[in-house]
Amino acid sequence: MWHCFNCGNIVVGYMNGKGEICGECTRCGTCMVRVIKSKTHDTVNVYAPPGSTRYEDN
Ligand SMILES: [Zn+2]
Repeated sequence: MWHCFNCGNIVVGYMNGKGEICGECTRCGTCMVRVIKSKTHDTVNVYAPPGSTRYEDN
């Protein structure tokens, strides 16, 4: 569980079986995919919902 990078809403993630944790914000629709690289390194990819851009770009 973490916060939406876009709007700060609580997002609940789920494992997708490929070492990735996916979460979709129910407020703004932003999709986040967290990839576990190692015990000390993971990355998060953030996808804006279709037809929208990140708030900070507006
Ligand atoms: Zn959000």
